[in-house]
Amino acid sequence: MPDRLRHCVECPECSTRYLIGFSPYQNGSYLASFVTESSEEYQLFCSCRRPRICSRWGWNDLKTYSVSNGAYVRGYGRPEEVWLLRPNTDRERGLLNLNLAKGKKKDK
Ligand SMILES: [Zn+2]
Repeated sequence: MPDRLRHCVECPECSTRYLIGFSPYQNGSYLASFVTESSEEYQLFCSCRRPRICSRWGWNDLKTYSVSNGAYVRGYGRPEEVWLLRPNTDRERGLLNLNLAKGKKKDK
């Protein structure tokens, strides 16, 4: 059963979910990351369209997903393979605490 928790970004066009840290992806998509003064930002270029669909993600926009084995090996997956975790589970809380400890908190 799927048992991997990862931060992912989701293409707004095709809903493919990409795992952070696996760029470049086999399907031609890639993720750029850069650090700003207050946060870390990501820019996803999804190959589902030409030119690529670009979406921007702040650290605080990232959600935690449960990733199936197949999607984990690939580094990305469809919504059926990469599930958005329900908040308020114990494990999600653990990850949130980790994030806060890293000083990534930002008010919006
Ligand atoms: Zn896409």
